[in-house]
Amino acid sequence: MGPPGAGKGTQAEGLARDAGAAHLATGDMLRQALREETTLGLEARRYLDSGTLVPDRVVLGLVAERLAGAGEGAGFVLDGFPRTVAQAEGLDAILDRLHAPLEAVLVLDVADEVVVERLSSRRTCARCGAVYAAAGRPTHLEDDRCERCGGTLGVRSDDQPDTVRRRLEVFRAETEPVIARYERQGLVRRVTAEGSVEDVRQRLIDAIGANVRPGAGGGR
Ligand code: ADP
Ligand code: AMP
Repeated sequence: MGPPGAGKGTQAEGLARDAGAAHLATGDMLRQALREETTLGLEARRYLDSGTLVPDRVVLGLVAERLAGAGEGAGFVLDGFPRTVAQAEGLDAILDRLHAPLEAVLVLDVADEVVVERLSSRRTCARCGAVYAAAGRPTHLEDDRCERCGGTLGVRSDDQPDTVRRRLEVFRAETEPVIARYERQGLVRRVTAEGSVEDVRQRLIDAIGANVRPGAGGGR
């Protein structure tokens, strides 16, 4: 968990890959639905574009579907979910049914100025959704192509400064109470998300290793 631009996607992808776990990012799922112009994607568009939250029932439906098979695998890393207290309650019910309790809630702390800076230079592939940090790239970005699929890289419509500000407000109002709820449950591990991707990654690994029992999460 953490504000937009904290590095959730970057870090969750790496941690999940190394653990052989599934990486479930609700933002990625919603953008994929939008690219495919499914009913869900078309319903989500106005929320994504305006930087507000997609209704809880829509997001919970998506996650429930994707977690249904998670009982057998090597677990999962949730990214960008839950973002409201109602989603956290819905997640509790889903995980109870799967007998797969949360092991830890990793929170990435980062200053607002850093977020605005990172998001103004984030480039996202229009075809597959891969994410690049444009900062420091020497070439003209409009010529850049996705290394994964050759698609065109562009700025996400919700990474414009005004929309980023709205998303930060939404994070404070809707998602910080969720973090407080997990804090009361003793699940939160806070990590400073400034510094290099590798440094943040090491802090996350230390935070999990020091605090989570191996094999916790029963039956997974
Ligand atoms: P989130 O999923 O939290 O919105 P991302 O993982 O997409 O954030 O990261 C936002 C942007 O910042 C991306 O362009 C990413 O490449 C870049 N980024 C991620 N972590 C770092 C870091 N530690 N230092 C600098 N840039 C970073
Ligand atoms: P993200 O990719 O996590 O930055 O999310 C981008 C946008 O997708 C958000 O601004 C919301 O509009 C929507 N979204 C992603 N995850 C959720 C969620 N858990 N609940 C509601 N909306 C979400």
